[in-house]
Amino acid sequence: MPEQQVIGLIGGMSWESSAEYYRIINQRVRDRLGGLRSARCLMWSFDFGEIEALQQAGRWDEAAELMIDAARRLERGGADFFLICTNTMHRMADTVAAAVHIPLLHIVDPTAQRIEAAGFRRVGLLGTAFTMEQDFYKGRLQNRFGLDVLVPESEDRAAIHRIIYDELVQGRVEPHSRAVYRAVIGRLVEQGAEAVILGCTEIMLLVKPEDSQVPLFDTTGLHAEAAVERALADVRSVPVP
Ligand code: GLU
Repeated sequence: MPEQQVIGLIGGMSWESSAEYYRIINQRVRDRLGGLRSARCLMWSFDFGEIEALQQAGRWDEAAELMIDAARRLERGGADFFLICTNTMHRMADTVAAAVHIPLLHIVDPTAQRIEAAGFRRVGLLGTAFTMEQDFYKGRLQNRFGLDVLVPESEDRAAIHRIIYDELVQGRVEPHSRAVYRAVIGRLVEQGAEAVILGCTEIMLLVKPEDSQVPLFDTTGLHAEAAVERALADVRSVPVP
């Protein structure tokens, strides 16, 4: 019987969302294969304090070294492919992918494919300031998938970013912050967004479909589900006792 591929996960950024990846991946395997089945996976989980300090200081090269070390640990551990369980740290995705022999499942790709399939062209993007302002993320959405990407205005970006770091990665889900996100999504829709990408893996803890007038594309769920599709590509969808 063909076995599941082993999913490698670089997590801990933050563990609040890594726990969601772990839950979604295992739930999805159970849905596909039956009650006792679960995912074959490995996770390297960072101390996020260490990573956040490097991000704040703009020490991206050192952060990339840590990410490469994590990917190599997963490779040595037997992962068949790997995921970076944060949008922001895809900033160094190409460098990390080039340092190992196992492939990276990039978070933008399943997200953009789903948006394309739904027929949307103009999408709003919510995430950390790094994700909303730098080119590594928007560039891939635009250049590979032809999407037109809108980001919030400066004040709104600052609020979205602050709520991620001061609350969500620390396990705080606050109703008044949900109201802030709802208002920002509303302004993106006014500017013509046909859909909105939750481009930070913790936003799904706060914002739900009912908080938006347009469809939301949650990168955590889409990335985790794509990992399972890949891991089960050669496995027949029948429960094995
Ligand atoms: N998990 C977040 C993201 O998807 C932010 C934390 C980080 O900076 O990695 O971007």
